[in-house]
Amino acid sequence: MRQIPAANWAESYHYSFRECLSPTSVDELCGIVARSGSLKAVGSGHSFNGIADGSTAIRLTDMPANPVVESNGTEVSVGGHWTYGDLAQFLHGQRLAIHNLASLPHISIAGAIATATHGSGDGNGNLATAVSALEFVAADGSLVKVRRGEPGFDGMVVHLGALGIVTRVSLEVRPEFGIAQSVYEDLAWDQLLANLDQIMAAGYSVSVFTQWAEKAGAIWLKRTASDADWPAELHGAVRATVNRHPIIGLDAGNSTEQLGRYGRWSDRLPHFKMGFTPSSGAEIQSEFHVPRQHGAAAIEALLKIRERFAPLIQAGEFRTVAADTLWLSPQYQRDTLSMHFTWQRDQDAVNEAVRHIEEALQAFDALPHWGKVFNERGIGARYEKFGDFVNLRNRMDPERKFSNPWLDAVVFGAGEA
Ligand SMILES: Cc1cc2nc3c(=O)[nH]c(=O)nc-3n(C[C@H](O)[C@H](O)[C@H](O)COP(=O)(O)OP(=O)(O)OC[C@H]3O[C@@H](n4cnc5c(N)ncnc54)[C@H](O)[C@@H]3O)c2cc1C
Repeated sequence: MRQIPAANWAESYHYSFRECLSPTSVDELCGIVARSGSLKAVGSGHSFNGIADGSTAIRLTDMPANPVVESNGTEVSVGGHWTYGDLAQFLHGQRLAIHNLASLPHISIAGAIATATHGSGDGNGNLATAVSALEFVAADGSLVKVRRGEPGFDGMVVHLGALGIVTRVSLEVRPEFGIAQSVYEDLAWDQLLANLDQIMAAGYSVSVFTQWAEKAGAIWLKRTASDADWPAELHGAVRATVNRHPIIGLDAGNSTEQLGRYGRWSDRLPHFKMGFTPSSGAEIQSEFHVPRQHGAAAIEALLKIRERFAPLIQAGEFRTVAADTLWLSPQYQRDTLSMHFTWQRDQDAVNEAVRHIEEALQAFDALPHWGKVFNERGIGARYEKFGDFVNLRNRMDPERKFSNPWLDAVVFGAGEA
């Protein structure tokens, strides 16, 4: 028996768990699942809503991660509870890499793919797109293995924790690569709006951080070439000469290295270093994904109402994510501009601010990040492949062992959460 998880990482959402089980082997986990009526796996607890809540928590951190390089060095298979930071360390020893990382390496692989967690880059799919095979314990306690190309695979990767307990994940890997990062400050709104596509295409991974203030903010440019030329200005934004934190005014000590210094992919793609507390901690996050062609118009629509949400902002960020084929991915068959908000930790005020943002983005087919704060309910129905996902879930979890009030209301449109 483990300590019962009380709250998410940011302590903005309080779980209702009454017990926590931590099996040490897949066999033990299969037995627990077969016997239990209701279970919820908790990864690293970084989601900001009730997606990971339940009555009995399962933590897999006592199970062996047992990372294995497979398929002639093109795949790695690992326990789903491992964090991307642990994985990056292991891959470094093998001179391998995955295609991208989120803003921080502290999150678990199974939890990140559950919500279609993403980094940035016009050519980079979200982190779930690297998954080539999965192993689940299904509701009857049986072990289900599924590989890309097999029936249902595309529905199981962005799984929302609704299909079973993910024990192992196989990810596509590539030879280790390097990244250099530079920050360009004081980007004007008119420059961003007029040159959005060029700015987001300027590197392997590009983020634009904004406070929704008079100026748009700063471009964080991550490039793969070791000898990249860094101009003094980019669309009027000026290259920073010291390291920066994404939240203006905070100490840059826990941010990844900048100033164009070339280094390992895993030390540059996240914004925060592994050994440090990411971000500020006391926060809430929201994020909305809009189809790329609506990117500039969606930003303009939010600029018109910014006084309704800007006072609550710690940091905002624009990123791009490439289209994929995963049924519940907000990038399903569409490239997106992702509009992220790190809020002050005031849940009621955030709900209200988000309501205004949702209204303003209605015209742009925006879909929320599954792991963050939004108000819309019954969202599953807006996904083209939702009917197939419902059938998959009926098959894998007919008794709803892995459900919770959040899934029922937010995804399936039943009840309240
Ligand atoms: C500081 C911070 C920075 C962030 N940066 C980004 C970012 O850059 N990009 C982005 O897209 N998101 C970002 N997020 C959001 C975060 O990546 C997602 O919420 C992600 O899902 C968190 O993973 P987790 O392991 O903490 O999952 P949890 O919150 O623990 O769980 C999420 C879901 O996964 C399920 N789950 C977890 N493990 C398993 C398992 N083994 N089997 C079955 N189901 C499981 C849970 O039941 C739940 O349904 C950030 C969050 C924080 C706090």
